Amino acid sequence: MRVLIVEDEPKVASFIRRALEEESYAVDVCPDGIQGRDIASDVNYDLIILDLMLPGLAGIDVLQALRDARVKTPILILTARSKVEQRVTGLNAGADDYLTKPFAIEELLARSRALLRRASGDTTSRMQIDDLILDPITHEVTRGGQRIDLTSKEYALLEYMMRNAGRVLTRPMIAEHVWDIHFDTFTNVIDVYINYLRNKIDRDRERGLIQTVRGSGYTLKVPAG
Ligand code: CA
Repeated sequence: MRVLIVEDEPKVASFIRRALEEESYAVDVCPDGIQGRDIASDVNYDLIILDLMLPGLAGIDVLQALRDARVKTPILILTARSKVEQRVTGLNAGADDYLTKPFAIEELLARSRALLRRASGDTTSRMQIDDLILDPITHEVTRGGQRIDLTSKEYALLEYMMRNAGRVLTRPMIAEHVWDIHFDTFTNVIDVYINYLRNKIDRDRERGLIQTVRGSGYTLKVPAG
């Protein structure tokens, strides 16, 4: 899950970034409205957190530009408590939710999760492939009823693969959703993490769920036969 934060206040931006990274999201931060609009049009984010008072271009205009460009990514706007009309304008312009400053980080995380869930059409929340089960709320992963402990990056990779089970995922696709924008796609980091996951998920199993698709990437599915 990859999140863009468009926020010019460094303290607020790094506070949100840290909290989201702890929850295994890949996070990019942008301090300016024009840059924010451009990067959000170019990169396929899963969620955008957008401040309204921004240098360059106001948040409301960023929002409008993205919706005009048919960018459908869920957008959570951050507004000042006193500005009721800002919230209304924001929601009318296509924001999915809003949070008034100052906010509790737990609330921001809860709302982010809700938006991501809604966007993925996921109502039951628990994901299951064969006997592998992942709970995106608690981050608990089990296989055959046995609990599997994953690092934050391993979890993010597995969640992305489970959300896209059966699809062939190329390395650039994985990089785009699991790592941040500074990720160098020429490294073998993705293959290394796939191996970590395999060791934890598929080791000593007759049926490996993580499959290599030669020349393309990886897929997570129940093997045929
Ligand atoms: Ca601001």
